[in-house]
Amino acid sequence: MDLTEPEIPEAPASKGHPRQLYMLFFAEMWERFSFYGMKALLLAYMVTELKFDEPKGYAILGSYAALVYTMPMFGGIMADRFLGYRKAVLFGGILMSIGHLVLAVPEDWSFFYGMAFIICGNGFFKPNISSLVGTLYNDNDPRKDSGFSIFYMGINVGAALGGLLCGYVGQRISWHYGFGLAGIFMILGLVVFYFGQKSLKHRGLPPDQAVLKKPLFIGIPTEVVIYVATLLVIPAIVALFNQYEVMDYIMFGLGALSIAYILFISFQMEQAARYKLFAALVLIIFSTLFWGFYEQNAGSLNLFAMRNVDMTVAGVELPALSVNNFLPPAWVILLSFVFAWLWPALNRKGLEPSTPMKFGLSFVFLGIGFYVFYLGCQLSADTGLISLFTFAAGYFFIICGELCISPIGLSMVTKLSPAKIVGMMMGIWFFASAIGEFLAGKIGSLMSVPEDVVDQPVLSLPYYADIINQIGLYSIGIGVLLILLGPVIRKWMGDVR
Ligand code: GLN
Repeated sequence: MDLTEPEIPEAPASKGHPRQLYMLFFAEMWERFSFYGMKALLLAYMVTELKFDEPKGYAILGSYAALVYTMPMFGGIMADRFLGYRKAVLFGGILMSIGHLVLAVPEDWSFFYGMAFIICGNGFFKPNISSLVGTLYNDNDPRKDSGFSIFYMGINVGAALGGLLCGYVGQRISWHYGFGLAGIFMILGLVVFYFGQKSLKHRGLPPDQAVLKKPLFIGIPTEVVIYVATLLVIPAIVALFNQYEVMDYIMFGLGALSIAYILFISFQMEQAARYKLFAALVLIIFSTLFWGFYEQNAGSLNLFAMRNVDMTVAGVELPALSVNNFLPPAWVILLSFVFAWLWPALNRKGLEPSTPMKFGLSFVFLGIGFYVFYLGCQLSADTGLISLFTFAAGYFFIICGELCISPIGLSMVTKLSPAKIVGMMMGIWFFASAIGEFLAGKIGSLMSVPEDVVDQPVLSLPYYADIINQIGLYSIGIGVLLILLGPVIRKWMGDVR
């Protein structure tokens, strides 16, 4: 975050929010519309249209999502050091728009290229639009948390609409129209940001224009080198997709490096700060497992919804991809209000759980959600189809889990990290999602269903039920472990609540 940002004259200490928040809200809403709209289609498109076998589909989905959440570390650093948030968001938005439009081209080559553009674009767009929200408030402004909550709402309104519409168009009309629709809304998000950014005035401008213009390589200015270097990463990502086995080493290597780096930094700090970083590290490591289970949503649960959930309501067959990708963000929108009321209410009674406790609860809720799916499977063994009600009820618990970890984790990172490494730690928080997404692909592939039974719900159900049951049990077990470890982690956190 750019600490040189001056205070905001037009946003006095009132209950209202700076008007720029709404511009960022809509830009991010449409970007997430396209991001989640496209992700809703990805696995089903690979398996049913491209005829990838299921383990390959899961491996490519896991690699895509892992790289999507790895790139924000680089996009964040580039913005902090050189581009500033605004140029980074614009560049990222352009790459993402190109990526979505490339995916809309009905040719084989377009698939990996489209994803590679989106991966690079997301790395520049996603972390930096969030940092821009941060620049609208001074650090001690009480409106900052609620500003981020409003922004998180924008993310989920976009995700709900994107999943609903792209899921429908992709599954029922044409996969490429579905991808194209995502692209149109990404361009809309970019247009909102392009015309709205002037209202940000000095916020998010490059930290040093001179550095940006300085020739870096054979007379080419630094700014252009950054853009060209990013474009050169695109064919490298395509090559990675073609050799996706290598991803194991990359993710394992980067994961080990990140842990070693945090430990290295922590040992250069005085004791209290070091223990805070230990606490953050342990919670971040646990969060990878949460995302590994949670992200079955965009993977195995898409195919499960298509094959083993009864989508008929009042005689009408709902499109499974729409339903599966609409339900989670819709629950987030509804339950956000409940949690926004619940935490302060518990706090007033001195009963608000600590951060490690909330992390533990998130696993317990997630486990209950998967267990509800499992019970649905047990009760429907004769038809092979679980009821939509059970499916929605399972997601209710899973999203209670999300709300105990996702927003809590963001704020935990900002509180436990020394100010000068908050940006990097935020990148590492998103990187934990990357490792989680990669794990999700591996877990998903355990639910691969053989070709000859995909159209027979009674026979495909057991392939899901067994792993869903195990996810539920492991998740509850991990939650209990975290709750037991809670007091130790809490002690490491020192004065942070
Ligand atoms: N759903 C949230 C978003 O899209 C959080 C994603 C994550 O951290 N894995 O921003």
